Amino acid sequence: MLRLITGTPAVILSLIIATLIVWVALFCKAIYRTQLGRRCWYCGAPKVRISRSKQNLDLFARLSLLFPYRCAGCLKRFYRLRVGGL
Ligand SMILES: [Zn+2]
Repeated sequence: MLRLITGTPAVILSLIIATLIVWVALFCKAIYRTQLGRRCWYCGAPKVRISRSKQNLDLFARLSLLFPYRCAGCLKRFYRLRVGGL
């Protein structure tokens, strides 16, 4: 029981650090996707548009300056930074 109590902050800290690492990785991926311009991350089609926010994840993403986009070619959805009106 004592070990569980003393280990709890370490577990919480580990979860926070893991979450931050995942967020940084996703943010770096979004930056790379942003550099592709108006091209789709998946199929390379030059037709991507902002997608409507439907999920709770979108709210968290917007707080991280990431916006949902959808490809008109393959219809896949992905997140990237919003730059220059697109
Ligand atoms: Zn596509």
